[in-house]
Amino acid sequence: MTAGAYAHPTISRFAIADGMLRIGGLPVGLLAERAGTTPFFTYERTGLTRRVEELRRALPDDIHLSYAVKANPMPAVVQHFSRQVDGFDVASAGEMAVALDTPIPADRVSFAGPGKIPAELSRAVAARVTISLESETEALWVAAIGEWLGVRPRVAVRVNPDFQVKGSGMRLDGGSQQFGVDAEQVPALLTRLAAMDFDVLGFHVFADSQNLYADILAEAHGRTADLVVRLAGAAPQPVRYVNLGGALGIPYFERDQALDLATIGDNLAAVMSERLRPALPEARILLELGRFLVGEAGGYVTRVVDRKESRSHTFLVVDGGLHHQLAASGNFGQAIRKNYPVAIANRMGVPGAETVSVVGCLCTPLDLLARDVCLPRAEIGDLVAVFQARAYRMTASPTAFLGHPTPTEVLA
Ligand SMILES: *Cc1c(COP(=O)(O)O)cnc(C)c1O
Repeated sequence: MTAGAYAHPTISRFAIADGMLRIGGLPVGLLAERAGTTPFFTYERTGLTRRVEELRRALPDDIHLSYAVKANPMPAVVQHFSRQVDGFDVASAGEMAVALDTPIPADRVSFAGPGKIPAELSRAVAARVTISLESETEALWVAAIGEWLGVRPRVAVRVNPDFQVKGSGMRLDGGSQQFGVDAEQVPALLTRLAAMDFDVLGFHVFADSQNLYADILAEAHGRTADLVVRLAGAAPQPVRYVNLGGALGIPYFERDQALDLATIGDNLAAVMSERLRPALPEARILLELGRFLVGEAGGYVTRVVDRKESRSHTFLVVDGGLHHQLAASGNFGQAIRKNYPVAIANRMGVPGAETVSVVGCLCTPLDLLARDVCLPRAEIGDLVAVFQARAYRMTASPTAFLGHPTPTEVLA
């Protein structure tokens, strides 16, 4: 049995009035009416903005922030971020189209990811976004496409680092990967790129995700800077782009601690002024972040449609489920299932009264949103909010599974 979920730091980010959770200043009950249906996802503009502000306060002034669109590709969210961040990182031509619809200039959009096919690459070359080259095959395609279109492609080399960082019980290690070009192969690739008609802007290093250890991140940023400075010696043109990756995590589970941003910011300031700026004075230096920017700024709201007892255990059956929340169900990259923070959105502040499991409406025992959580007594018609719900939720869940409607999204 876990204690009441209300203590989770994310839940305390939201306002509560008359026992009702508010998102974007609006009671969730009214948001459900506005959405016209449950379940639905809702995010708050103020939460998105506040997050960027928090981060900017901690980081050096001259670092750029790029939003990794795959964390939440809702066009309204991407539009919102176009006024907050300096660029977008996209992982498909579909995401690229969403990014290019915003006021962010194309040269501030980068396109990364393995397996980019010629049809996508030609869209990217034509749009003049920065293509993060993941292999030599991609480089050859991009060169041919550039020649065909009469456009000089803008590229960066994505590097799979050759260092290891250990600390706080966690290890960051490039190892063998399908992402990027191994650091030791980069100089040879740069020599080949120099012989082709490319604008080689610089380097992209992204080898980690969902990291909550500031000491590891700080060391990784320093090692990444050293690696990039070393590789810059083989670059055919001055380095104008250094993407240090991101990996800033958010606390999903009860014992997770929120990241110490001050440590990360102070370290980055030193890394930039002592190592990157002197060696690469023309470089735009950036961090690219997905879940850190969106993950905590909203929730998934689903309605209790049944309440049943089975051999002394109570189940709250809701109208949502793992088809929208694969990660909360524990079936997306978790070795041991842990509960995401949940609350009865219309009974906030009411003490926990019973231990229940919240299950979804799919015909599989995997469809579990929370197991053995202590919640106030909930009735049919109540609203259950699942937090940390947005990054990689809807679009990384099997929404077609069992043929239920695709959930609505509301930006409040
Ligand atoms: C997914 C991805 C990100 C975002 O990762 P988060 O853990 O959500 O911050 C950033 N950069 C690249 C290249 C990615 O593929």
